[in-house]
Amino acid sequence: MSKIVTRFAPSPTGYLHIGGLRTALFNYLYARANGGKFLLRIEDTDLARNSIDAKEAILQAFAWVGMDYDGEVVYQSQRFSLYQEYIDRLLKEGKAYYCYMQKEELDKNRKEAEAKGQVWKYDNRYRDFTDTPPAGVKPVVRIKAPTEGEICFLDGVKGEIRIAAKELDDFIIARSDGTPTYNFVVTIDDALMGVTDVIRGDDHLSNTPKQIILYQALSFVIPRFYHVPMILNPQGQKLSKRDGAMSVMEYKTLGFLPQALLNFLVRLGWSHKDQEIFSMQEMLDFFNPNSLNSAPSAYNKEKLLWLNAHYLHKLDCKQINTLLPFYGAEIPNQRAQEILYPEIKERSKTLLEFVEILKTCLTSVVTYDEKMLQKVKNEENIHLLKEFMIYLQSLKTPFENVQEAEQEIATFADFQGIKAKSFFMPLRFALLGSPGGVGIAPLMSALGAEVVIERIKQALEILSKSDS
Ligand code: GLU
Repeated sequence: MSKIVTRFAPSPTGYLHIGGLRTALFNYLYARANGGKFLLRIEDTDLARNSIDAKEAILQAFAWVGMDYDGEVVYQSQRFSLYQEYIDRLLKEGKAYYCYMQKEELDKNRKEAEAKGQVWKYDNRYRDFTDTPPAGVKPVVRIKAPTEGEICFLDGVKGEIRIAAKELDDFIIARSDGTPTYNFVVTIDDALMGVTDVIRGDDHLSNTPKQIILYQALSFVIPRFYHVPMILNPQGQKLSKRDGAMSVMEYKTLGFLPQALLNFLVRLGWSHKDQEIFSMQEMLDFFNPNSLNSAPSAYNKEKLLWLNAHYLHKLDCKQINTLLPFYGAEIPNQRAQEILYPEIKERSKTLLEFVEILKTCLTSVVTYDEKMLQKVKNEENIHLLKEFMIYLQSLKTPFENVQEAEQEIATFADFQGIKAKSFFMPLRFALLGSPGGVGIAPLMSALGAEVVIERIKQALEILSKSDS
């Protein structure tokens, strides 16, 4: 088998979304697993609709998920003269021709056919035209498509596809302003870039017969095609932004890890036994485009969160530290990291949640939960918090670790003749201002006695004030 060459060919008219990233991933895995090449081509011929930001976002997304491509990025906008060469060649060989049919007439014919409920097709009227061209008409260039037989190909996902030649017409390959059309440039590029396997969304399935006609006209080797069904929402409809059809970089902003997103995407339309968690190495070991599913896959947000939590839990302190600045979080001292990170990981599914909890732990309380305040506010609790503050101030050696912090709470509770458990709520109120969050003893040991005392002082002010 010749060396596998795949490509990802996004149009930078909108941001790279997860469907695109999934296509890129499948192409990447297939090439990398087989010692082949994975190429990146930006299809930016639609100059009016292109956006530089969208091009940047594609490269950013690739860098974020750690997908590397071979060689330089190919930009179609820089290859117009190359496309022109091939148009000229087809014209010269009599495989393409100028068509002078005016747009107005063409539109009129189309409307008439549609009104009769017919599918309109160009009638190939200039196919064998040898007369003098009409004056002042800028022609388009059309390919001489086969008029008989079938265009057939074996799609790696959909199986055998057969289209009767008579369903297709001599379609346009260059517009009247000379610019090449979409199917033409895709074919030229795939052939010249040596692409052996095209894995793409099945919204392109209807383009493939046209591209095959062009491969044949140009005597290019036809690649293998795999048309992957769309990702749908759980109701089986087109994925909307609300469902998750966001730009890839938005997933980063929302606190998702690239390894979770890739793992999530690889399972949309592909499976290996009943395995759900795939390391990159496992994806490379097991992925095969021939086992892509021919039925659409459904986006499942809960599963993405579950996977993200899984990968988040596996991160060590150092890895987390490198991720925090993006979310505007400061990196705490080592003791706080070691104590709090495992606690917070247990309670978060995304990095955004992680950062929220971390910030709550590390900054003094700004707003106290009103309901909790009402529950905690009584003489007994105020007394206990005051006593606990004094107790902490009297400690000769402040607690060094979680066990010691637990021990101090227990000793204090004993001394006061109360159950340690009953002291947790006022203490939590003082330290965090709201219910939930990390364990109290870990928090105390991470913050140290001094900060704990300060927070109790502040909470006591609130509790005494609200008493009035
Ligand atoms: N540029 C096309 C798109 O973004 C993909 C073309 C292809 O993969 O053949 O949908």
